[in-house]
Amino acid sequence: MAELKLDSPLQYVKGVGPRKAEVLANHNLHTVRDLLSYFPRQYLDRTNVVPIARVQVDQPVTIIGMVKAHGILHGRRRRYEVILEDDSGAISLMWFAGVKYWERLFKKGQMFAATGTVSYFMGYQMIHPDLERLDDDSSQMVHAGRIIPVYPQTAELSKAGLASKSLRRITSFVFDHLTEPIPDHLPSTVRGQSQLVDLHTAIQKVHYPDDREQLETCRRRLAFDELLGFLFMVFRRKAQKERAVKDHRYQPPGETLTKFKNELPFELTTGQKKVIREIFIDLQSKHPMARMLQGDVGCGKTVVAIASTLYVAENGLQTAFMAPTEILAEQHFRTWGPALEKLGFRCALLTSSLKPSVKKKVASECAQGSIHVLFGTHALIYDYVTFDNLGLVIIDEQHRFGVEQRSKLHAKGDNPDLLIMTATPIPRTLALTMYGDLDISTIDTLPPGRKITRTVWRTHDARDKVYKFVVDEIGKGGQAYIIYPLVEKSDQMELENVEDAYQELSSSVFRDLSVGMVHGRVKPQERDETLLRFRSGELDVLLATTVIEVGIDNPNATVMVIEHAERFGLAQLHQLRGRIGRSDKQATLVALAHPPLSEIAQKRLQYFTGTSDGFAIAEADLELRGPGEMFGFKQSGLPELRIARLSADRDLIETARNLLSTLFAKETELDSEHVKLYSFLENSAFGRKTELGGG
Ligand code: ADP
Ligand code: MG
Repeated sequence: MAELKLDSPLQYVKGVGPRKAEVLANHNLHTVRDLLSYFPRQYLDRTNVVPIARVQVDQPVTIIGMVKAHGILHGRRRRYEVILEDDSGAISLMWFAGVKYWERLFKKGQMFAATGTVSYFMGYQMIHPDLERLDDDSSQMVHAGRIIPVYPQTAELSKAGLASKSLRRITSFVFDHLTEPIPDHLPSTVRGQSQLVDLHTAIQKVHYPDDREQLETCRRRLAFDELLGFLFMVFRRKAQKERAVKDHRYQPPGETLTKFKNELPFELTTGQKKVIREIFIDLQSKHPMARMLQGDVGCGKTVVAIASTLYVAENGLQTAFMAPTEILAEQHFRTWGPALEKLGFRCALLTSSLKPSVKKKVASECAQGSIHVLFGTHALIYDYVTFDNLGLVIIDEQHRFGVEQRSKLHAKGDNPDLLIMTATPIPRTLALTMYGDLDISTIDTLPPGRKITRTVWRTHDARDKVYKFVVDEIGKGGQAYIIYPLVEKSDQMELENVEDAYQELSSSVFRDLSVGMVHGRVKPQERDETLLRFRSGELDVLLATTVIEVGIDNPNATVMVIEHAERFGLAQLHQLRGRIGRSDKQATLVALAHPPLSEIAQKRLQYFTGTSDGFAIAEADLELRGPGEMFGFKQSGLPELRIARLSADRDLIETARNLLSTLFAKETELDSEHVKLYSFLENSAFGRKTELGGG
């Protein structure tokens, strides 16, 4: 066997060979170096292994045992059951899907490790546990007190004989025979200051940790590298933007803004005034603005955006104002269009449901430059939409758009200014990483007179009382939303649905009220009509799915009931709550939960009813769910963070940002270690990411 180096092709590692090497290559694993970055998905940890006789309900554990029996159970729901047995006892493992697959997988007498949470139903059981088939060798390893890695699997890998245990054999061989250390690109001073272990140790021990503590130390080092790479990309994009130059210059603000303010039915809040100032200064700069406007639901972001369009129009430039739904785009257009027209500027609306002839007319007027502010949906992105002189791009509810969509609109102008708006506040750590290339403006005040929405949660058996309350509130002049998780009855999930509820409620408790319904499958035109009727007060109750989640503004709505509140995320609940409490009237939200509730669902509901502060909710949401699940992270189009955890690794983000500030500082002379780091980052996967553009 030749010496094993980092660049050695995997084909020559013992136990691989040409056929397996090809399969590994399909997973982007070509060399020893690549394989070392194929990190375990989870671990089998002896400290978690419990004899079956000693499991307890709600306890997350790993058990190891032999398949004693397995087969399909027919009942109210078809399911697959496996009886797993060890020296101490037996437990039932249960799956409600994939029966065929399980049937093929299990053989009597095989050893498995099952990880999951134990429940009790006519005996101890585990529903949908994580499974790993053990050979004698690995079950011994577990029993011998090692923490052993479980690698991410694909069907192709296991078919080629590269299941977790074979990968284990290969990685373990590699570590034993590697003849060179993995070089460390981090300057030793940085490592010392932040107590980060060296890269070789980190990688080796992430595969084969001695204990949990060491695993965490090593994970942190790798998380740091990942964050550093990600932020390098962000810093570079920011530097690129800062070098760009606009070819138009703004005059100082003229009369129109004063006139606009005088016509408003309210005073701008101090938060709104401060942010308008920040935006105007950016517009006047010779470099294009890249700014994110954040604030709690209902703080009044739209009027700030409109004030900006005015300044842009005053300077003879056009604005594209994009919103994620037709309802919202139309709402903006109808609410603000007249005010803009009155000041002498032309507005138009462009959505896909318009007649082709109308779309064509709008597009051609926009191309000639006679439209100052064009409101619209994704329809604005299409190629037939062009601008004569696009000065400002506004993206409302930005989490609903991908990076590509945002940059496509942005590319319709020549370095236009960019303002993106969030639905709810963004946790600081997320803002510093994901949106680290943007300047951030925060509206930190709510319009005066707003009362905090009274929020309670009840179990669904309180529903009749809740309905009575709804009827009473409507009697006092209010309006109500009732939110459902499903459009129609489903075999898969036993959840309340809006269509059945509409039939039932409009002929019973709400018999004397006018009730409307909207959901994703209602035709856009009908949906808009219903919403308009709700806004004008013609409808008392609106039954809806989460299509109404963003932006809808009906200040007269004072009640909201959310069915199956346990199924919604915190940010989403808060966003829904933002539909009420939009005036000086006291509003009430009742979250109806359907037990049994998981621990995390209970925490979420407690937190939700306990605070109305969107900034606090955003932080809690990040902690409870992790960034992958956060509002919009998945759609963002940004590379995923696999190792770093934004809530736990806050300090690493700070450290990485400081380090990058040094690397990017123009005046500073870098020492050779830092120069090496810069070129390492430039050549890393993140550094090679092409310009993401736009937002
Ligand atoms: P969001 O920030 O959630 O997008 P909106 O821009 O939709 O909020 O504004 C919410 C509501 O508050 C709207 O009805 C808007 O007209 C109103 N509003 C905005 N600013 C003020 C203010 N300064 N005083 C009173 N009401 C305001
Ligand atoms: Mg809004």
